[in-house]
Amino acid sequence: MEDSNNIKPAKERKIKGKVEIDIQKCKGCELCTIACKENALSLSETINIKGYHYIIANNESCTGCVNCALVCPDAVITVYRTHPKKKPIAITPPDIKEQLQSMLQPEKKRAYDNSKTHERK
Ligand code: SF4
Ligand code: SF4
Repeated sequence: MEDSNNIKPAKERKIKGKVEIDIQKCKGCELCTIACKENALSLSETINIKGYHYIIANNESCTGCVNCALVCPDAVITVYRTHPKKKPIAITPPDIKEQLQSMLQPEKKRAYDNSKTHERK
């Protein structure tokens, strides 16, 4: 009988994922670990400069699905898709980090808008 599950384990795929995490900005909220179906992400035992346990990636299991980057509220994850014969390419949607970072900094944006208003007067 044929196996109905056609998904190959990550190690057998030619194209795999690779995740880079800005560990000093990670706050250890673990939203990304919940989103990762491959269990490729886990919390470190050590802490970062902010005092948080940060996320470390097991890139052997990563498929490059980008779920982790999409759910990270601080946009600190970049996902690459790798192929044995090609250079890794970043596949995290390019504007997501900018959008999230601007949402995270409403105070700075307000100050910027106010300064623009004063300039016009
Ligand atoms: S890209 Fe997908 S498989 Fe890779 S670590 Fe992120 S959620 Fe997991
Ligand atoms: S979702 Fe982002 S901030 Fe939260 S643990 Fe993962 S990498 Fe760190």
